[in-house]
Amino acid sequence: MDRVFAPGDRVGVLLTEPLGRALSGCLDYLAPEGGCGTGDFVEVPLGPRRMLGVVWGAGEGSFDLARLRPVTRVLDARPMRAELRSFLARAADYTLTPLPAMLRLATRSPGLFDPPGARKVYRLGGPVPNRLTDARLRVIEALRDFAGAAVTLGELSEAAACTASVIKGLVKAGVIAEEAAPRDLPFPTLDPVPGATLLGDQIAAADALVANVEQGGFHATLLKGVTGSGKTEVYLEAVAATLRKGRQALVLLPEIALTAEFLKRVEARFGARPAEWHSGVTQTERRRVWKMVSEGRAQMVVGARSALFLPFQHLGLVVVDEEHDTSYKQEEGVLYNARDMAVLRGAICGAQVVLASATPSLESWVNADQGKYQRLDLSSRFGTAELPDMRAIDMRAEKLPANRWISDTLAQAVRARQAAGEQSLLFLNRRGYAPMTICRACGHQVGCDDCDARMVEHRFLARLVCHQCGATKPVPTACPSCGVEGRMAPVGPGVERLAEEVVERFPDARLAILSSDLFGSARALKEQIEAIAAGGADIIIGTQIVAKGHNFPLLTLVGVIDADLGLQGSDLRAAERTFQLMRQVAGRAGRSGDRRGLALLQSHQPEHPVIRAILSGEEEGFWRAEAAERQAAGVPPYGRMAGIILSGPEVQPVFDFAAELARRDGPLRRIGAQLFGPAPAPIARVRGRHRVRLLIKAEKGAPLQAAIAEWLAQLKQPNAIRLAVDIDPQSF
Ligand code: ADP
Ligand code: ZN
Repeated sequence: MDRVFAPGDRVGVLLTEPLGRALSGCLDYLAPEGGCGTGDFVEVPLGPRRMLGVVWGAGEGSFDLARLRPVTRVLDARPMRAELRSFLARAADYTLTPLPAMLRLATRSPGLFDPPGARKVYRLGGPVPNRLTDARLRVIEALRDFAGAAVTLGELSEAAACTASVIKGLVKAGVIAEEAAPRDLPFPTLDPVPGATLLGDQIAAADALVANVEQGGFHATLLKGVTGSGKTEVYLEAVAATLRKGRQALVLLPEIALTAEFLKRVEARFGARPAEWHSGVTQTERRRVWKMVSEGRAQMVVGARSALFLPFQHLGLVVVDEEHDTSYKQEEGVLYNARDMAVLRGAICGAQVVLASATPSLESWVNADQGKYQRLDLSSRFGTAELPDMRAIDMRAEKLPANRWISDTLAQAVRARQAAGEQSLLFLNRRGYAPMTICRACGHQVGCDDCDARMVEHRFLARLVCHQCGATKPVPTACPSCGVEGRMAPVGPGVERLAEEVVERFPDARLAILSSDLFGSARALKEQIEAIAAGGADIIIGTQIVAKGHNFPLLTLVGVIDADLGLQGSDLRAAERTFQLMRQVAGRAGRSGDRRGLALLQSHQPEHPVIRAILSGEEEGFWRAEAAERQAAGVPPYGRMAGIILSGPEVQPVFDFAAELARRDGPLRRIGAQLFGPAPAPIARVRGRHRVRLLIKAEKGAPLQAAIAEWLAQLKQPNAIRLAVDIDPQSF
């Protein structure tokens, strides 16, 4: 039961800012005049500052009541529900994150509690005249992009790259309307009408999901089906059923660039756009979404992983689309995996969780295999579209001349598609021009000054770029090491260099490059994707952004330039990652065709078991073998792992501190866990900080978090050293 506190009662308030490890719990205050209740958002004094917090319960501190300060004011917002509070607490325990840092994820949009009506926002108003200046046109286009979302003068002038006076001029001309910020503007009602008539496997899968909705409560389901099999169509049935029950639905997508297409699809289906939540959404709009979600007046939210922390009133369904995608793991700040957190939130609030993928994570595959998740399979592509034919090109036999990467076999296939008016995708998971710049005189490789990483040449930017920290420098004409002039040379291909080869060998082809760094904005990327889908290119060169769910109807050939790329290195997840990526990329071919797609994988080791599994498409066998290997090694999902990354400006103190921690491993040994390291982290220096890693491995049922907490509490870390705990690290 949520408690109501009378004025002067002792209450525990959780602040949204961690104040060091010592203060990671609640602070005691007196309930204000008028009282307050558990879950209330409050402003409290802390020294000279005012802080945002949430009333977490009765105060427990031993501080004298007379010395406590009262809560300054209770903010005008729905109290945080018990369900969300317990989700945050459990997530904090699981990830070993201080609870205030977790609370911050749920409240971090600035100005969430600003008084309404403080700002003006703009939307399309009257008829648009035929003749407009370029700047005015950009404003109209930007507003169309925002699709009715609230946008302020600053946000709009930035999006349209124009001055405020252009916008004011359009207001005067009656083309756009200016109004008070609609923090209270509800989202239009979605009409959960029936969708397409489902076919085959789709029927049983949708029925099962809808039955779960009807039954209510927590269910976790793996929805597995190749790209184009209708997974989206099927889970939208579950969304519709959820809306009909008056509960809210959340759909997580791994990539902002995918939301535009998805929102259109939802709009076509349900007659209105759902709420949108990700880093590309304006602050004004986020304030509105947050409020409407908390009041139950946003029925559906489409967003990035941070949408999991929204204050839903009655969440009934969470869909994690492309659930295997590594971008669901947040690698900075609070380290969490949104896929796992979605399951946790669903379990706590009694919602159904649907994990959808063509190539599930091994974790989810095992959970389904062991019966922890329900598994629903869509076994074929919708309609006449078939899976692509997949073959390897043995690069040992192709004997390519230097600085060429497209084999003759692949080139011929590309020409055939071009002649037929179809598109080819050349996939290379490397941004920039060349991954390495070396000195031909002394062999020196140009590295980043602050990271343990090579600098990657980007011709488009005419700079070398560090992909770890983003630092750039000009391409040197003389070797920084031996000083010899004119011998610096690029080695290996990135997408920009591959483009040169394409231009040379296919001079009459229209070429498009899809690489995240070539686009100044999400909008520019979206436009390029739309242009390609409409047939505006013959050959597409792409990095992994093309692997994610885009639909190019004319694409019938996928050529993977280097299928071996991901198999190098010692990471135990390399096989899984390569398998997922190759199958996803290949799945771009022949999605909606009358013609069957073809995927050609250039490889120097076509007999490698992973390459063979990719080609044969015998997925279950691949997963089973992978699972057996992980089980034998005692690693996730059969064992538990945690990484401790320590970093500091000097390497020795970091190593010394790590070694000291390693010596005091009693709490870990008591639960039977093994400690490895200290060793240099996979990237040993980032942004000038040296990084050292300790790895902990434990059995599945071991109380890992409690042991780690006890272990770390033994030593106070020096001020210069930062420590991050990564439960379930991505690489091990
Ligand atoms: P996935 O999410 O598995 O990639 P989609 O749901 O996007 O698959 O379906 C692929 C394409 O086939 C989409 O254009 C979708 O509208 C269409 N489609 C799938 N199932 C049906 C159906 N039963 N009736 C009509 N169109 C369908
Ligand atoms: Zn760097």
